[in-house]
Amino acid sequence: MKVLVSACLLGMACRYDGHTKENSEVIQLQKKHTLIPFCPEIYGGLPTPREPSEIREGRVYSKSGADVTAQFEKGAKEALRLCRTLGCECALLQDKSPSCGCGLIHNGHFDGGLVEGDGLTTRQLKANGVRVLPASKIAEIENLPSCPCTAKCHRHGDCEACRKHHAGRHNPPSCERM
Ligand code: SF4
Repeated sequence: MKVLVSACLLGMACRYDGHTKENSEVIQLQKKHTLIPFCPEIYGGLPTPREPSEIREGRVYSKSGADVTAQFEKGAKEALRLCRTLGCECALLQDKSPSCGCGLIHNGHFDGGLVEGDGLTTRQLKANGVRVLPASKIAEIENLPSCPCTAKCHRHGDCEACRKHHAGRHNPPSCERM
């Protein structure tokens, strides 16, 4: 299946500090899946390196206090656009990030503390039917059922088979081409 992947996990030096989070287990996934690298903060218009940011009271702030919510929201929208265009059924994203975090993110106080929650890109993808896994749960990717649509037309969410496959799902895909 096609999997959107946090670019930093594939060795891209796009983290806020200009480094990567290269993960050999994630890179190995290319033997079985098509991996599509994406960094929402870069596509949201932020530079690298940049200040670290965290989510606090529904907004995203850099460490010096600048409100960067708009850039994070733009990156999240671009991630969804790419998933829809290429037919990504799933996203495998870096843990704890205010963009890519899934299930657990930094608490907004830049003290290393964590709280339950998702980054903005993860929220956007989940809300539109794209399954998201954090890199720490990479093993679960093999348990995800593959969408029959990708075999039929390579356009996730764009055929009758896909609609049947996703019927009854908590978050069915909302394909604009239906
Ligand atoms: Fe990696 Fe996501 Fe942060 Fe980009 S926004 S550096 S892909 S964790």
